[in-house]
Amino acid sequence: MKNLVTGGAGFIGSHLIDSLMNEGEHVICIDDLSTGNSKNIEKWLNNPKFTFILHDVTKPIELQTDRIWHLACPASSIHYQKNPIKTSETNFLGTLNMLKIARTLDIEILFTSTSEIYGDSNCDVQEESFKGYINPNGLRSCYGEGKRMAESLCLDFMRTYGTKIRIARIFNTYGPRMKKEDGRVISNLLQQAISKKSLTIYGTGKQKRCFCYIDDIILGMKKLIKTNYSGPVNLGNPQENFSIIEIVDLIRSKFNYKINVVYLPLPADDPIKRKPSVKLAESILQWKPLVDLNEGLDKTIHYIKGTL
Ligand code: UDP
Repeated sequence: MKNLVTGGAGFIGSHLIDSLMNEGEHVICIDDLSTGNSKNIEKWLNNPKFTFILHDVTKPIELQTDRIWHLACPASSIHYQKNPIKTSETNFLGTLNMLKIARTLDIEILFTSTSEIYGDSNCDVQEESFKGYINPNGLRSCYGEGKRMAESLCLDFMRTYGTKIRIARIFNTYGPRMKKEDGRVISNLLQQAISKKSLTIYGTGKQKRCFCYIDDIILGMKKLIKTNYSGPVNLGNPQENFSIIEIVDLIRSKFNYKINVVYLPLPADDPIKRKPSVKLAESILQWKPLVDLNEGLDKTIHYIKGTL
């Protein structure tokens, strides 16, 4: 089967490609390398089952494929805020272009949405039915509202043309190949700890996130595309629910030297808590995350040290 993976040189995209290629599938990877890294896909470049196309998804493209995994979009706050208008364009035009291909070829398209669409909610646990509490014109809106628009577009293609859409709402994900300068909490803290710098805690550090290891997310996405469920499905790890202070302590415990912390201001619209309900994924995908934060961090530290 031929798979089109947009954003395939990125963190999640490249792990998905590894998994598909290891199963003997054909892969066309589209990436404009704005935040993706060609090193992430380097090992497949000479494989006859793999094609790389340097392309910006906001521009139309014609190709043949059997299914689409649409991931292309800068995903960390410093990257998506760097050129917010482009981020909105990528979410809208990029998704529109991919939906048009899926419609024409009558194939499945899996769109990667985000927990960001729930905004800064007071909900302890975010179920798919929660409509979100998002600032429509803040610094994070280009991403959060962009993804909401893209979800809406997916559903309208499904309702209007019967396009076979799947929507994965992905919560905080970490693991090898996270971009070291993406500003995300796990990337920052691990890089800082390894280079013996002070760990940066934004705000009080009491804000909470649930962290899901990359392999679990890939498994969930692969199960989702095979269903015929067209509503959004949360993918994340509710068991691994930590405050930033708790993560800092866990990371410090993994190094045998003293590591200081420094408190910095909380970025605007930074959600106070985020925890997925994965009941839907458990029931329709028979999926649940398997890797705990302790094990996942060890694997990630091992990877980062290997790149130095
Ligand atoms: N954060 C932090 N120190 C850092 C980077 C992030 O305390 O060096 C905090 C950030 O303010 C947020 C949480 O960690 O509350 C998760 O941030 P991230 O950017 O990883 O994910 P998101 O906010 O998109 O869930």
